Amino acid sequence: MPSPVTVIGGGIAGVACARALATGGVGAVVLDRALRPGGRMASRTMRGGRVVDIGASYLTASDGSEFAGVVGGWVDRGLARPWTDTFAVAGAGGIERTTTGPVRYAAPGGLRSLVADLAADVDVRHERTVEHVRPGPTVDGEEVPAVALAMPDPQARRLLDAATADRLLGDRTWEPALAVVVGFERRSWPADLHGVFVHDDDVLAWIADDGDRRGDGAPVLVAHTTPELARAHLADPDAAIPAVTAAVDRVLGLGTAPAWTTVHRWTFARPAEARPEPFGLVDGIGACGDGWAAPSRVEAAWTSGTALGRALVRAG
Ligand SMILES: Cc1cc2nc3c(=O)[nH]c(=O)nc-3n(C[C@H](O)[C@H](O)[C@H](O)COP(=O)(O)OP(=O)(O)OC[C@H]3O[C@@H](n4cnc5c(N)ncnc54)[C@H](O)[C@@H]3O)c2cc1C
Repeated sequence: MPSPVTVIGGGIAGVACARALATGGVGAVVLDRALRPGGRMASRTMRGGRVVDIGASYLTASDGSEFAGVVGGWVDRGLARPWTDTFAVAGAGGIERTTTGPVRYAAPGGLRSLVADLAADVDVRHERTVEHVRPGPTVDGEEVPAVALAMPDPQARRLLDAATADRLLGDRTWEPALAVVVGFERRSWPADLHGVFVHDDDVLAWIADDGDRRGDGAPVLVAHTTPELARAHLADPDAAIPAVTAAVDRVLGLGTAPAWTTVHRWTFARPAEARPEPFGLVDGIGACGDGWAAPSRVEAAWTSGTALGRALVRAG
């Protein structure tokens, strides 16, 4: 039996890539450095054993797309649910209006549970940090028929020699973010808040009502910072918490101190500008994820991973 294609990265792009390979009759193994699948669709268990989404806030699916079918399957099985199409919009001084857009989907079990569902039939090996990928291709010195790097460009670049990285990835900037989880004793914001896009603020970009999106009404908000605030605190994210909680209080007018807080650093949260091409592939070394199939979001990552998997099937 031929060796399986190696997919590095167990986020939604890597898992989608492995599934597309398997559907095409090509074996695949996914290696991920983390304990569990999900990548930036990250859900962490916190106070009282409750899960909080600390990466992606929600997902969207373009009308009529293949991904919309995947999301529909999750909704049918109760793994995902339509959350809202309406959010508040705030300036630095507070909430100004609402805005309506596409339906945003959330997951009662946390967004990570959706990647875990996709990965159910996939051979995912956790706590496996890959050090280098070289032309051949080889993965940490072992020959493989092909390899897919399913991760942010700067993480993929670390694995490659400079010439291959330049050919495959070019040079693109990725932006950081901090996700600050702010827990309260009780809810003191409007029930129909859902989430808030914050404009023209030095600290905040977005606040999500985690209890609302997850459907249990827990008094938990998750605030995402601006890239600038994150960049200034990458070495010590905890130091950003007071500024973030003060900004949440200012924007929502709460007047209540949080009961607990925690912060997660995303050094490579999103590409400053994603590519329109669905994936990269040079001499058996592929790249996929939300840096491709723009605009950058969960749907793009799934689409990119699936497209790369199918291309590797065609390449034999
Ligand atoms: C704060 C934040 C908010 C977001 N909000 C939204 C949103 O509301 N809606 C939306 O659609 N999208 C959102 N996104 C983007 C969304 O999370 C991503 O588009 C999507 O999850 C990317 O999936 P991926 O598989 O391409 O990459 P990732 O999920 O980053 O997966 C990469 C994987 O590679 C692994 N890895 C990296 N290096 C190695 C190595 N050397 N060896 C082994 N494994 C390795 C990592 O552990 C990780 O699991 C947000 C992202 C962030 C960070």
